[in-house]
Amino acid sequence: MTGADGKELEPLFGPGLTGMKNLGNSCYMASSLQSVFSLPVFQDRYLTSFVIHPPTCTNPSPATCFECQMSKIADGLLSGRYAVPHVPEPSDALAGSDTEAPADGDKPRVHFQEGIRLAMFKALVGKDHAEFSTMRQQDAGEFLQHLLEYIRRASKSLAVDEPTGIFGFAVEERLECSQCHGVRYKTQNEELLSLPVPVRKREAMDIEATPSETSAGAEARTTYEQDTNRKVDYQPVQLNDCLSNLTSPTETEYKCPACDAKVTAIKSTRFSTFPDVLLVNAARFQLDGWVPRKVDVPVIVPFTDLDMSPFVGNGLQQGENELPADEEDAPTEPQFDADAMNQLTGMGFPEIRAKRALLATGHNGAEVAMNWLFEHMEDPDIDDPLPVATSSSASSATEPSPDAISTVCEMGFTPAQARKALRETGDSIERAVEWLFSHPDDDGSDSAPAAAGRGAEKKLPGSKDLPARYRLKAFISHKGPSVHSGHYVAHVWTGQADSSGGGKGGWVLFNDEKVVRADEGEQAAERLSPFAYVYVFERMRE
Ligand SMILES: [Zn+2]
Ligand SMILES: [Zn+2]
Repeated sequence: MTGADGKELEPLFGPGLTGMKNLGNSCYMASSLQSVFSLPVFQDRYLTSFVIHPPTCTNPSPATCFECQMSKIADGLLSGRYAVPHVPEPSDALAGSDTEAPADGDKPRVHFQEGIRLAMFKALVGKDHAEFSTMRQQDAGEFLQHLLEYIRRASKSLAVDEPTGIFGFAVEERLECSQCHGVRYKTQNEELLSLPVPVRKREAMDIEATPSETSAGAEARTTYEQDTNRKVDYQPVQLNDCLSNLTSPTETEYKCPACDAKVTAIKSTRFSTFPDVLLVNAARFQLDGWVPRKVDVPVIVPFTDLDMSPFVGNGLQQGENELPADEEDAPTEPQFDADAMNQLTGMGFPEIRAKRALLATGHNGAEVAMNWLFEHMEDPDIDDPLPVATSSSASSATEPSPDAISTVCEMGFTPAQARKALRETGDSIERAVEWLFSHPDDDGSDSAPAAAGRGAEKKLPGSKDLPARYRLKAFISHKGPSVHSGHYVAHVWTGQADSSGGGKGGWVLFNDEKVVRADEGEQAAERLSPFAYVYVFERMRE
């Protein structure tokens, strides 16, 4: 194996530098495992298990015990016992060896390692899964999530520590009604950030060099193009710009429960907390006639200084009025047949009348509804809001008005306090303020039904600490037209090389059983990282 520059790739051996034999389209699994086992939490967890689990294992067969399999992989990858040069027997050479013939007859052969075989593990982790049980190529990002879920389940069933908590973080979605300016916050727990990459075509005129492209970036692109025989004709983007895009406000249509109307709302997504290890899945897709197609947009990723701090969200702010209830909690309108609605509104009937007619005629199509409308044109309630379930009127009666909450907040109370006080006093501002002065220690957090299920009061994964700075620990690259074909490799940062030279340190490429240094040359981390698919960032703690 040589680079395009003719330089021999330097095979590496030793603890943590073990390859995995390809079992036929298993590189997505190997790359995911190399990334996961590059993390100290997983190394410690499963090396410990390698010692303490087997004597206590109650599973009749180690082949069907996930804990046994994972701890064997940890030992296999990290002990170094299997990371030794594989010198093929003469018969192997005749049969076609897995090492390549030397370019120069005088040079010694480069021997790679054989790599550990994970057939049992693959069978176990893919069992009963429609895709991972097959020999087909898979999406490494999906497999990673499947693996983490498996680890969680298996750890729980053994009542042992589960190491996947390091990936957990929470995102907050903030929605602001453009009319009443009420807000709604929702938090959601995640463990893999799916990050849309903006797709911008390169102009034909600057196809050779884009101003925003660094010389290293241009070089990386050229290598990638030669390597994959695919032309990169998209503008490179900074990872930071993808994050800014993700977190910047967008307009969306929203049924505001306070305005009781369809309005334009401003939506933004930010990070409530940050994980110890941030998994980023770069979503480089473009819709091609409704079919998502992978596009080779180079993403420039900082290796040592990804600062996530600017993307933090701080939840409900002083002076913000929370909307009465989540959209999902609001009573849902009956479903209306879209075709019938289109016909009726197409004839010029207002939406509310069309819905009322369909409701009144038992959803029997546009014609029946139209006849009903002609008969009921003069009904006084023809344009009134549709009747809703009684539970909603009950909840709106107990929910203080945003105006009242706002007025109480202006006197220096929190929205939670204001809401509770108003609820206690039947929405009277005067009495609510009195109530608050007589309950100085009440923070308003308990017995507030609307607030009880809110994310802010739940224990969120990850940490709110700032700054949130990361360095790139590993990434999984993919070559090929779709994530379900082609080949996956993993790059892992193994720490600063020691000054004595040689040995461990720097970037290492795991390409199935081949493990090579990847600090420079064709397979260098710098060249492949712009086209990686999954990035693993480790939080830096000062
Ligand atoms: Zn076991
Ligand atoms: Zn509103």
